[in-house]
Amino acid sequence: MRKIAATYVFPVTSPPLKNGIITIDETGKILNIEDTRGNLREQAGLEYYNGILVPGFVNAHCHTELSHLKNKIPEKTGLGGFIGAINKIRKAEEEEIIIQIRNADREMYHNGIVAVGDISNQNSSLEIKKESKLDYFTFIEVFGFLPERADRAFSFAENIYNRCNELKLNASIVPHSPYSVSGDLFKLIKNNTEKNNGIVSIHNQESKDENLFYRDGTGEITEHLKNNIGLDISGWKPTGQNSLPSIIDKLPQTDQLLLVHNTFTTISDIRILEQTRDLKNIFFVLCPNANLYISNSLPDVELFRSLKLNICLGTDSLASNGELSILSEMKTVQKNFKETTLEELIKWATINGARALRMENKLGSFEVGKKPGINLIEKADLHHLKLTSETKVRKLI
Ligand SMILES: [Zn+2]
Repeated sequence: MRKIAATYVFPVTSPPLKNGIITIDETGKILNIEDTRGNLREQAGLEYYNGILVPGFVNAHCHTELSHLKNKIPEKTGLGGFIGAINKIRKAEEEEIIIQIRNADREMYHNGIVAVGDISNQNSSLEIKKESKLDYFTFIEVFGFLPERADRAFSFAENIYNRCNELKLNASIVPHSPYSVSGDLFKLIKNNTEKNNGIVSIHNQESKDENLFYRDGTGEITEHLKNNIGLDISGWKPTGQNSLPSIIDKLPQTDQLLLVHNTFTTISDIRILEQTRDLKNIFFVLCPNANLYISNSLPDVELFRSLKLNICLGTDSLASNGELSILSEMKTVQKNFKETTLEELIKWATINGARALRMENKLGSFEVGKKPGINLIEKADLHHLKLTSETKVRKLI
């Protein structure tokens, strides 16, 4: 048994405690949370830290499979340039890919991440995820713009899905993005996900060109499909609407929907979304450092906050981020959206991600019976409760 106290404890699902004490057993399970009302008395065996105790972080969007692409892709080239570059250099030695996936898993562990929503296009990461100390939910992602490719793309994903089942890894088959999946492929995904009550995740409105592609068939995505991939897209019919409202009916109707990036999502997109689904079950996963890396833009966090949407945080992959750190994503949000409180950021970094990945019974908050991990946030501004550039995270449990 350990008793751990700090200047502040943020249980997340209840208000912050000044000088709170968390008692855990040897497995990390929470036995008690004590509100000292700020009056901490010395007691035998009590560990005390200067800083803030928060639950382990949840990284709601990552691609560990792309970890070997760190520092290989030029910054700020826009989404078309980014995907073009990835496709060119994606083929690496399998051995190198495995080494870098393992490093990414370790990096996340040391950065206080306890669970990950991880995209897989291949089998490469599955064994590592099985052995990992982190909890993973695997999103097996399918592409295929041309309808004639749908069956083949889907059956490839099914093989990975079956392997996940053998390894007892939680997984769903999901569409890559609105602009890379045909109507036929969307249908196969929808049937499968509804049958298995899977979790849906899709890259959404990562670039303004994705909206242009749907609105009038112009922009970089159109160029990318034609020139980088060499597709005949003469049959493409723009919808006159943004991408999200254009595809929302094609997405499976299950409890959780993770919309990833949302860099160019507008109020009218959200209004249309809420006519088809309960916003309570939609999770807006923001990956601000990756957005700055690829397109030097950020989602409208103020809008999402004002609508009280479920915001989660993700690192995306090392192809578009220098590190896999949820704390670093929190700092980027705070720097660019100064109204955001530390309490909100911690909620986004913990319980919201845990709920999105259906891990909230174990992770995401300090509550008796959970095993969420314990992070110490050090060198924050404890007077104003703000992160600083010096702020670090130390994994205690
Ligand atoms: Zn991604």
